Amino acid sequence: MTKQIAILGSTGSIGRNALRVIDALGPDYSVIALSAHSNVELLAEQARLYKPKFVAVTNPDYAGQLCEFLGDLDVEVLTGPNGLVEAAEIEDVDIVLTAVVGAAGLPAVFAAARCGKQLAVANKEPLVVAGELLMSEARNNGGVILPVDSEHSAIFQAMQSGTREEVNKIILTASGGPFRGTTAEDIQNVTLEQALAHPVWNMGPKITVDSATMMNKAFEIIEARWLFDMPVDKIEVLIHPESIIHSLVEFVDGSVVAQLGEPDMCIPIQYALTYPQRVTGIAKRLRLDKISTLTFEKPDLETFRALRLAYEVVRSGGTAAAVFNAANEAAVEEFLAGGIEFVTIVELIEYCLNKHDVKTSASVEELLEADAWARKEVKFKVQKSIKA
Ligand code: MG
Repeated sequence: MTKQIAILGSTGSIGRNALRVIDALGPDYSVIALSAHSNVELLAEQARLYKPKFVAVTNPDYAGQLCEFLGDLDVEVLTGPNGLVEAAEIEDVDIVLTAVVGAAGLPAVFAAARCGKQLAVANKEPLVVAGELLMSEARNNGGVILPVDSEHSAIFQAMQSGTREEVNKIILTASGGPFRGTTAEDIQNVTLEQALAHPVWNMGPKITVDSATMMNKAFEIIEARWLFDMPVDKIEVLIHPESIIHSLVEFVDGSVVAQLGEPDMCIPIQYALTYPQRVTGIAKRLRLDKISTLTFEKPDLETFRALRLAYEVVRSGGTAAAVFNAANEAAVEEFLAGGIEFVTIVELIEYCLNKHDVKTSASVEELLEADAWARKEVKFKVQKSIKA
């Protein structure tokens, strides 16, 4: 039986890598739907190559252009945010791979969970913003959520060595980003250019900045909390600059099980598509004899305050994580546009968290409200400080 895959966010880096993985997997896996926000040129090119039955463009302004590019291709075009939901709900879809940047993909992820699909989650927002709700939605509808984030894929793989009760703690590894070793004082003066120069992973600008602030790892703490149903005090972060060990699980007997590999997203993407099987992959093979040294250090919680905030956010629960995520998205946007300093990103997030009235056991609507509130707060605060 061929597995039919919908890729939400097929023109981004994860989406493009997923298509390479699917190419190599052969005829057992086929693409039934693709989506993009506005890069309709590449979306049309992918549609010509993979012949999906559906393509979705979430920015409706580009729908006309997409139809032009598609020409006489036999494919149904879905548009707007609801188009993404429709793509996730397609009956023949077995696996939904979601790699939509930002909170915009949330309704589609919930739609897939409600339909009991195998859901491969590559972007952090669904689990960060709505992890508790999403996990229960999937559980209640017979769906399964598989992590594509390299660290969580590693933990998920290591977890196969024992039961959930036998886990003592989870150790998330982090490259440390471009500012590893920078003091709390020196980080005040870093530039946009420096923040965009990641030493290991080649990713989009938003995620690269998240890696520089270590918000990326902060989100991963929250993701792990929900994905693996782990109390947050059993989740640790370990700096490992070589990014060869993608994360580790310590079991109650003292055994530590890790997953290693070249820093290549094709491995976690493929595992989420072929789980519970493993098949021959396209990733470069790990040669530990060529690497020879792997190093580790404790994270610096003074320079990277985002990490400390993540633990507080998990303890607050409810809408706090939605605010944490949205304030970051809005602040990073300001930073990329040259409107604020690097350190102001986390300051703005902290400001929003302090000002926010946390609502516990929140619905998706309430989470989205908190999201919108935080974005507005960031904009307002930035405008006020520019005028001042
Ligand atoms: Mg990661």
